[in-house]
Amino acid sequence: MTIKNKLRTGIGFLFILALICCGLSVYFLNRLSADAGLILKDNYKTLQYTQNILDEIDANDGPLSAKQIAVMDDNLNNQMHNVTEKGERELTDSLSVAYQDIKLHQNTATQAQVRAQIRRLIYGIMHLNMDAIAHKNDVAAGTAKRANILVAFCAVLLFTIAFTFAVNFPGYIANPLKELTEKIKEISNRNYHQQIDFRSDDEFGELGQAFNNMTKKLDEYENSNLASILFEKKRIETIINTMQDAIVGLDEKMIIIFANEIACSLIGMSAEQLTGRYAPDVALENDLLRNLLVNEQPKLKIFADNRESFYSRESLSVSSKGKVIGKVIILKNITEYQQLDEAKTNFIATISHELKTPISSIKMSLKLLEDDRIGNVNTEQRQLLENIDDDARRLLQITGELLDMAQVETGKLQLNFGSTHPKNIVDYAVKAIKFTADQRQVTIKVKCDDSLPEVHADLDKTTWVLINLLSNAIKYSHEKSVVELVVKKHKNDEIEFSVTDHGKGIEAQYLSRLFERYFKVPNATADQTGTGLGLAIAKDFIEAQSGHIGVDSEIGAGSRFAFTLKRAV
Ligand code: ADP
Repeated sequence: MTIKNKLRTGIGFLFILALICCGLSVYFLNRLSADAGLILKDNYKTLQYTQNILDEIDANDGPLSAKQIAVMDDNLNNQMHNVTEKGERELTDSLSVAYQDIKLHQNTATQAQVRAQIRRLIYGIMHLNMDAIAHKNDVAAGTAKRANILVAFCAVLLFTIAFTFAVNFPGYIANPLKELTEKIKEISNRNYHQQIDFRSDDEFGELGQAFNNMTKKLDEYENSNLASILFEKKRIETIINTMQDAIVGLDEKMIIIFANEIACSLIGMSAEQLTGRYAPDVALENDLLRNLLVNEQPKLKIFADNRESFYSRESLSVSSKGKVIGKVIILKNITEYQQLDEAKTNFIATISHELKTPISSIKMSLKLLEDDRIGNVNTEQRQLLENIDDDARRLLQITGELLDMAQVETGKLQLNFGSTHPKNIVDYAVKAIKFTADQRQVTIKVKCDDSLPEVHADLDKTTWVLINLLSNAIKYSHEKSVVELVVKKHKNDEIEFSVTDHGKGIEAQYLSRLFERYFKVPNATADQTGTGLGLAIAKDFIEAQSGHIGVDSEIGAGSRFAFTLKRAV
C-alpha cells in the first residue's frame, strides 16, 4: 500500500471513530430526551388531570357546581385519551363510571361513598403513573449509563489510536529520510558500499530499491574507472621504468611519488624505500639526492656501477590549471657525449699546440724577410709579406683561443689571483689594442677613476677579456667612431668594466647565444669573421673569478658589453 493510501486509511479510520463517537452521543442524548418527553406526556399529564379532578371533588361536600363539572369533564376527557400504563384503562373507565354516577345523582346519600371511590380510583391511577415514572427514570438512568460506557469506550479507543498515530507516524516518515540522508553523505565521501533496507512495499520501499541500484552502479563505475586508471598508471610506470634516463617525480610537498629503475640504481635505494618519503629527509642520508635537490648544476658526475658517468640534470616543474603540482627531475646519461667532447677538446688542444710552433716560426721567418739585411723586397713582395704576416697573426690568435678554450674545458684553467688596480688592467688592454684602433681610426675614451678600489683578479686573464671586448667593439664599429671604456663601482663589493661601441648593434634574438662556443651572429662581413670563441672564453674567465658578464645592444645604436669583478679585501 502506498504512503498516500496508508495516510488516507489511517486518517479515515480516525474520522470514522470520531463520527461513531459523535453518533452514539447524539443517539443516546435523543433517547434520553425521548424518555423524559414520554414521562412528561404519559405520566405527568395524567397526574395533573387526576389531581385537577381530585381538587374539584375535595372542594366541597355538596353538589358539584357547573364550573366544577366542566373542569372535571375536561380533565376526565383528557385522561381518557392519555391512558398509557397497564391497568390504567380499567381504573380510568371505573373513574368515568363513578364520575357519571356522582354527576347524575347529586343529592343521593351515596354521594360520600362515590366520592370516596373516586378518590381511591384517582390515587390508584396516580400510583400507577408514579410507579411508571420511577420505572422510566430507572430505564433512562440505565440508558445514560450505557451511553456513558459506550462513548467512553469509543473515546478511549479513539485517543489510543490517535496517540499511537501521533507517536509513530512522524518516525515512520522521518526515520527512512534520516537513514537516506546519512547514506547520501557517505556516498559524497566516495563510500559507495551503501545499502538501504526498507522492507515496506510503499514509496519508501521503492526509494530504497532505487537507492541500492544506484549505489551498486556507482560502485561498479568506480571500480571500472579505478581499474582503468590503475592499468594506465601501470603502463606509465612501465614506460618510465624502461626509459634510459633516470627519472624522479616529486609532488608539491616534496614527497617522492616515483623513481624509475635507473634512478633507483643511481641513488642506491629501492623504489619502495624512496616512494612516499619526504625528499629532503632522504637527501640527509643520500648524497646524490641531496645534490639533485640542492644544486642547480646542469651537469653531474656520478660514480655508479664501478665507473664514472656523466649526467645532464633537468628539472621540470609540473603545473595544472596554473598551480604547481609537482616536479620531475630527469638525469640523462651523457657519458658518451662527454667522452666525445673530451676527445674533441684534446684533439683541438693537440692540434693548436702543434700548430703554434710552425706558425711562430713562420712569423719569425717573416720578420727576417722584412729585414733589409736579408735583402730588398719590392713593393708587391712587401704587400704579400704583410698579408702573410696578417694571416699568421690571425692563425696565432685562433690557435691561442682554441688552446685557452681547451684549457677551460679540461678544467686545467689556472688562475693567478692578486689585488690590482682596475687602471692597470685598462692600461694594458688599451696599449695592446692601440694599433688595431689606430688602423680603423677608432678613439678609445677611457673613464677610470684613480679613487676606485683594487680588484681581486687574475691580471692576464682579465686583460685578455678586456682586449677581446675592445677588439670586438673596434671590429664592429664604423671607422672613426668612438669606443667608451668605463670602469665604475657596481653594487657594494664589485667593480664593473664596460665597453660601449656605436656600431651596428646585435639583434635581440642572438643576445642570449653570444656567449656560446663557436657562435657567430650570421651575416658578418669577411673582415669580421672570427672563431666565435672569444666571448665564450671571456665568460669562462670572468665566471672563474666569481664575476658576471653580460651584454645590452640595440640595432643601429651599438652594443655595451660589461663584466664585474670582486673588490679586493
Ligand atoms: P669572434 O671571434 O667571432 O669575434 P666572439 O665570441 O668574440 O667571436 O663574438 C661572437 C659574435 O658576437 C661575433 O661573431 C659577433 O657577431 C658578435 N659580436 C661580438 N661583439 C660585438 C660587438 N661589439 N658588436 C656587434 N657584434 C658583436
